[in-house]
Amino acid sequence: MKPGDVISYLEMCAEEKANLQRGMNYHLRGDISVILMSLRPNAPYADRIENDGRILIYEGHDVPKTSDNPSPKVVDQPMYNPSGNLTQNGLFYKAALNHAKGNLKPELVRVYEKLHAGIWVYNGMFGLLDAWQEKSNARSVFKFKLELSEELTSNRQLVQREVALDHDRLIPPAVKLAVWKRDKGRCVLCGSTDNLHFDHIIPYSKGGSSLVAENIQLLCARHNIAKKDRIE
Ligand SMILES: [Zn+2]
Repeated sequence: MKPGDVISYLEMCAEEKANLQRGMNYHLRGDISVILMSLRPNAPYADRIENDGRILIYEGHDVPKTSDNPSPKVVDQPMYNPSGNLTQNGLFYKAALNHAKGNLKPELVRVYEKLHAGIWVYNGMFGLLDAWQEKSNARSVFKFKLELSEELTSNRQLVQREVALDHDRLIPPAVKLAVWKRDKGRCVLCGSTDNLHFDHIIPYSKGGSSLVAENIQLLCARHNIAKKDRIE
């Protein structure tokens, strides 16, 4: 799977060999963690993208909504569960500080983004660089800094560095949504709705932008591969 691939919820679960229910999944399989994000207008958390698409600032998660906690948005995001174990916030926080303070390699985190009901985009492999707590509306929330770093793990897939460079930049969620609507969730060349990918019309390596919908289109796997063959 490449960054920018569009997959169904079930395909995402199959890829991770897990029934993904929560947004933060520390060491889901071996030492790889998985984060689900959503930057849609009604998304519950204030995630953001910085540094021309290489850095993701991901917000930690609230306490579960229960009769004891009817309003999670006014409660500090928890480091510990009532049992005293670290929450997912705590696990990611501790791992990030271990890396930021020492020489440990960053934790590897695969990031998926919700595009639409049941439709997700693989955003790539990230390194967990840092974490902190900050005030937001009079409560404390966690923030996690992740850097897109496909090269950390998938060198074997990066046959052509120039093609690979397109995968070194996150396409901002608003651009993805605009492209998805404009192209009606179909390959612009054949109308297929299977194995779609967000494609840079002019490659990033050739000066094309990730930041404008005019330079991004939906292609099916067949046409995506056909285009790369032409470029190479
Ligand atoms: Zn096609």
